[in-house]
Amino acid sequence: MLNKLQEITSDYEAITKEPTLPDFLDFITLLSGVTLDVSAKEEENAVQILTAHRSKGKEFPVVFVVDMVAKKFPLDYRKKKFQVPNDLSRGLKTTDDEKSLFLQEERRLCYVAMTRAEERLYFTLARWYGELKTEKKPSKFLQELDFEHNPLINVIEFAATSDSKNPEISTTAEGFQWQLQEQARNAISQMQLHIAVQRLVELEKVRLLTEGKSLSAFDPATFFLYSTDDSKLAHLLAGEKEKIVPDSLRFYSSSLSTYESCPLKFKFQYILLIPGLQKSFFSLGTAVHSTIEELSRLQGSGEEINLDIALKILPQFWQPRAYESRKKEDEDLAKARRLLETYLAWQMENKNTIVGIEKEFKFNFEEHPVKGYIDRLEQTPDGAICVVDFKTGRKPSDLTKKSIREDFQMNLYCLGVREMFGKIPVKASLFYLKDNKLVDYIPDTESINAFNDRMSTLIKSIHAEQFTACPGQTCRYCDYGSLCEAQEKDLEG
Ligand code: SF4
Repeated sequence: MLNKLQEITSDYEAITKEPTLPDFLDFITLLSGVTLDVSAKEEENAVQILTAHRSKGKEFPVVFVVDMVAKKFPLDYRKKKFQVPNDLSRGLKTTDDEKSLFLQEERRLCYVAMTRAEERLYFTLARWYGELKTEKKPSKFLQELDFEHNPLINVIEFAATSDSKNPEISTTAEGFQWQLQEQARNAISQMQLHIAVQRLVELEKVRLLTEGKSLSAFDPATFFLYSTDDSKLAHLLAGEKEKIVPDSLRFYSSSLSTYESCPLKFKFQYILLIPGLQKSFFSLGTAVHSTIEELSRLQGSGEEINLDIALKILPQFWQPRAYESRKKEDEDLAKARRLLETYLAWQMENKNTIVGIEKEFKFNFEEHPVKGYIDRLEQTPDGAICVVDFKTGRKPSDLTKKSIREDFQMNLYCLGVREMFGKIPVKASLFYLKDNKLVDYIPDTESINAFNDRMSTLIKSIHAEQFTACPGQTCRYCDYGSLCEAQEKDLEG
């Protein structure tokens, strides 16, 4: 319901310059009075004109996303008149960077529009709109796709009509270049490739001349440098889809866990690199985590630590601006203080020596790069290595000594330690500060072998590009709900 309201307000914002509440209410009234027989419109051989919002959930053989220029898509940011109350925003307190949130929303909308195409997708843009004198720049979304060099995108330019202005062609050389480009394009479209190559060589020579170089600077060996690897071409001609997962993809504990919970979410986040919701929201947990890290550093360099010192460090990571009221901030500060007290009491009794904080590890797993960071590495008095990971939330009720043997993060840390020290740690523990509970994992050959098999299967599935949605509880905390039709079905079902 809230999503629908947000959708309608976005549509409204897109079509009005001066949004006001009375005007918005008129807009809703107008919408409610319009009944469209959608089924009658969806004929096979017809063109449908839809906003990007309304195209969600539909697919068409050919899609045109129009006006892909700056200030049109994405629209210019305007402070929203409509706000989602904080109580409904799942406890996330965003900072005041509404502008960046707006841009992320526009980017997702663009993704929705693009992914409606089943066979062919066209973006259209013009350099000049109407009587406006300023030349429009291509949309930043097109630039992010590197549209001019992206091998998946074919750029087609149409000459301006005779009454259109084309101030770009202001010199003879530019006019000549324009003509050569047109001739090369036409030659390619008629498969007269030898003519196209001649025009391209001439274009390159004109370019050299305009840069003040002589024609002898033209080097055919460099110009005609091309790859002799035809395997990609052979795959494409055989009708195989181009791979979207790079062979060099690096894996992290978080990315592999995401794949396990929902392969489609993994694709959105780690393959298509679609930004999630603003991640700069303040988190009490992160502030406490960073304070513990700092305390560990002090202790590692032989300095004394206590609550006074901890409370002096905490403000470095605290963001008072994230709080609407002093009362709420004081409540959270009290919680943070309790977590730090728990940590300090535990640390007082800890006989181990800290040997690594936020320790980076890297290794190749079946030739695939893996990377991670371990909260803390410790050495026991008899020289064995163990791992501690601090959690500021509550211990999940289903986490037991038995189930921790399957914990992705802990097992990956064990492999990281093996890489660094030549053997797995004697113990890997999760410390839940809120509950003051430590859950230990004692890794052994059996658990590590089982984990190796699991990781191998996951990585193979990722490289086989199996990205089937797995809707469920994860959807509630997924940033990609607006792009995901599986989530809608799940919530509606
Ligand atoms: S909304 Fe649910 S099904 Fe869709 S990508 Fe996110 S987690 Fe997966």
